[in-house]
Amino acid sequence: MTDHAVIVGAGVIGLATAYRLARDGRAVTVVDAARGGSGASVHNAGWVVPILSAPVPAPGMLGTALRWMLRKDSPLYVHPSPRPEHVRFMVGMLRHCNPRDFRQGLEALTSLNERTVDLFDEYEKEGLRFEHHRDGALMVFHTREAMRTYEAATAPLERVGHTAAPLSGDEARDLEPALGAHVHGGLLCPRERHVDPASLVRGLTERCRELGVRFLWDSPVTGIRFRGTVATSVIAGGEEFPADHFVLAAGARTSRLSRLAGVPLPVRPGKGYGFDDTSGAVALRRPVYLGEAKVTVTPMSDRVRFAGTMEFGGFDEGVDPRRLGGIVRSARDFLPGVPTTARPDGWAGLRPMTPDGLPIVGPLPGRDNVLVASGHCMLGVTLAPVTAEIIAAQVEGGRRAADVAETARPFAPRRFARRRGRTAPDA
Ligand SMILES: Cc1cc2nc3c(=O)[nH]c(=O)nc-3n(C[C@H](O)[C@H](O)[C@H](O)COP(=O)(O)OP(=O)(O)OC[C@H]3O[C@@H](n4cnc5c(N)ncnc54)[C@H](O)[C@@H]3O)c2cc1C
Repeated sequence: MTDHAVIVGAGVIGLATAYRLARDGRAVTVVDAARGGSGASVHNAGWVVPILSAPVPAPGMLGTALRWMLRKDSPLYVHPSPRPEHVRFMVGMLRHCNPRDFRQGLEALTSLNERTVDLFDEYEKEGLRFEHHRDGALMVFHTREAMRTYEAATAPLERVGHTAAPLSGDEARDLEPALGAHVHGGLLCPRERHVDPASLVRGLTERCRELGVRFLWDSPVTGIRFRGTVATSVIAGGEEFPADHFVLAAGARTSRLSRLAGVPLPVRPGKGYGFDDTSGAVALRRPVYLGEAKVTVTPMSDRVRFAGTMEFGGFDEGVDPRRLGGIVRSARDFLPGVPTTARPDGWAGLRPMTPDGLPIVGPLPGRDNVLVASGHCMLGVTLAPVTAEIIAAQVEGGRRAADVAETARPFAPRRFARRRGRTAPDA
């Protein structure tokens, strides 16, 4: 009889996983609390950028965070919330802002990203239809110090074929004439890609349907039934959905789900904002990362997308105009042509953040057939295909699981599991 897998969450991670499992010949059901095509998987910059693998918690982040926290339009904002899970998460993140954890995290993400761009090429060969650009990416900086930090963080990626070539300000302006006079230098990253994220979500959904995947929309999962350590079904919309394997891929809301499975995982929302400019005021040949502003500017087929900011707090997805204003102002420092008009077309998305900045991928400890695919922070689009490869191998088991074991180890959920009846420090 065909194995049946239930995936909770139809974001880019759940969809990529559903597609991979269906390609293996499994029966797959995807259950989502909303309709398809919403959330962070649609509202993001669409960069496929192994070169930006550095984990968010980095040495020096505390000082920057404290400086920025005083300004409501800064690239980073932490809501002063007394909620224990928020405080625990922020303390956990600060604990990982040290050179050793940063280096190890970067090394693990470098290995994970080894096949990223090849897997996107395979998507196309397999008939997936989505807007996919191979123009590389350019990072630009106002100061030599900022550029040096990124040079150091991108160097390890050379091992897997992703390079960042230093440019002077004039060389960067020759490539992108829209850049302003204050740009001191840049890093040109020829192997990076970008996609229209909404088209990727649509393309994956279509291919899943063609492979017989069943979708249940507007069906929040509210319970998981177990027989001993084996999950037997999920409860959604009052109905029970049995399966042999369960994958929790609920993005920033994965913590609630994993709690239903008895293992609370520390995934918290990191809210980002963006807007799409169709005025044609800024013409770019490739995506550009505005270093000190931490803003991405992405040319897509019919618009230029601006995205940025990281706001730690609750699950509210409303748009704060001050944050959009912050993106416009800081982008104009690099690209003087950015229009100053108010942005009624702004959007927000919740990134699934983890305290160590690494995704959580693999079997839930103490549960035989529940896997987690979440916590991809700023790299969910980039890492969706490789995450799906790992989950599919782990569902299969045997030789295939052994082949991915080394790469997958740093991302195992067990690093956050309770120890001797106590919650792990970050969870
Ligand atoms: C401004 C911004 C820019 C970004 N830029 C990039 C980029 O350039 N490149 C990149 O790689 N990444 C980028 N990211 C990060 C990326 O968007 C995320 O990492 C990724 O979308 C996470 O995907 P996901 O499938 O895990 O979560 P989501 O997209 O949040 O999907 C989770 C799904 O689970 C569903 N769900 C939640 N709870 C339940 C429940 N109880 N029952 C059923 N369903 C449930 C939700 O409805 C949702 O559809 C960016 C993010 C933001 C916000």
